[in-house]
Amino acid sequence: MMQQQVVVLGATGSIGESTLDVVARHPERYGVYALTANRSVDSMESLCRRHHPKFAVMMDAESADMLSQRLADSCETRVLAGEAAMEEVARADDVDIVMAAIVGFAGLKPALAAAHAGKRLLLANKEALVSAGRVFMDAVAQGGATLLPIDSEHNAMFQCLPANQQARPQTRAVEKILLTASGGPFRGWTREQLSDVTPEQACAHPNWSMGQKISVDSATLMNKGLELAEACWLFDCTPGDIEVVVHPQSIIHSLVRYCDGSVLAQLGNPDMRTPIAYGLAWPERVDAGVAPLDLFELGRMDFERPDTAAFPCLRLAQEAITQPGGMCVLNAANELAVAAFLERAIGFTDIDQIIEKTLETITSGEPQTLGAVEDLDDRARLAAREHIARLTSDSQVVG
Ligand code: NDP
Repeated sequence: MMQQQVVVLGATGSIGESTLDVVARHPERYGVYALTANRSVDSMESLCRRHHPKFAVMMDAESADMLSQRLADSCETRVLAGEAAMEEVARADDVDIVMAAIVGFAGLKPALAAAHAGKRLLLANKEALVSAGRVFMDAVAQGGATLLPIDSEHNAMFQCLPANQQARPQTRAVEKILLTASGGPFRGWTREQLSDVTPEQACAHPNWSMGQKISVDSATLMNKGLELAEACWLFDCTPGDIEVVVHPQSIIHSLVRYCDGSVLAQLGNPDMRTPIAYGLAWPERVDAGVAPLDLFELGRMDFERPDTAAFPCLRLAQEAITQPGGMCVLNAANELAVAAFLERAIGFTDIDQIIEKTLETITSGEPQTLGAVEDLDDRARLAAREHIARLTSDSQVVG
């Protein structure tokens, strides 16, 4: 078997590390071509020593200098810096598979480079797809890339949809896609109870161990809103084709209901190595190192409707999906609001307020080019920053 060369964008993150865990289990199938990160020099150094990539790219130039010095004794890994270098490794001729696991809009350009170059693109970085939407999907189509969803829910949908309809399920055979949500750490809480939760509480997800940003998104239900938009782009459907179902155990990762009454579900322990291994090996399957699901241990599974009154982010996303450029604006505002919450500048229930205000402030057409997407993202960030500043100065006056 020919060894396939893998690039991991966002290698030092939670998805990055899980990807490298699966890759390292199959050295005959996969080699590591390049790893990228932002500033985590310590983690990157140890990943380079363990996985021997040809290139290590740090977004931050000072971090790249530091990493170069640390790896001076190793002639295997060349250290590069900046976004252009990330794009370069993502499109390199020798590369077969690119894992897009940078968090947020920052991951868009390297993911697009992989799409344009026709790679097998494993998409964890949902913010890139929901912000750029049509521009992203056009890059995949024009580059002849193979786009495989890594988000566990979309990976489950992909597995449950008919093999020849994974890109267009809304034929008569498929009635509904059921997108499962854990409900996050505050499931069942009232709006009042949510007003003074801390970043530590918000990041303590009951089932998944993830990066901070997606943990907060899960706690606000914005993650489900982003995933709704992601599913619409991936499977060429509309929000009306998808129903969100809260399933607190996170064992069913999503379901597809067919017109004959059959409902297909994909189940598994909540461990991202399963969808990652699926994306790496598809259409084959490889060992992911995941413990077998024990149904007797699990005992029961529960289902409920999402509470969009206490958690308005899902409703905001449902509305934004129908507005041209709405998800790009929503995503930008959400990134800034979550960062402000993690820095303790605003409260948990301020997150949806900032997003709602930003959506009211910024209107646009559907961006048709990368430049237009970047411009809209910039404008939304500027507006969100102003709303955050207003809120924090108001609360200082009150305090
Ligand atoms: P983490 O925060 O754990 O990791 C983020 C990675 O992105 C790190 O390698 C980080 O580098 C890098 N990074 C951050 N900012 C920049 C930047 N400006 N430029 C370049 N690189 C950057 O995130 P996760 O692994 O949890 O999530 C990654 C993506 O996958 C997100 O889009 C998330 O929504 C999605 N996802 C995650 C799941 C999970 O279980 N974690 C599940 C499904 C989807 P550094 O360490 O140097 O900061």
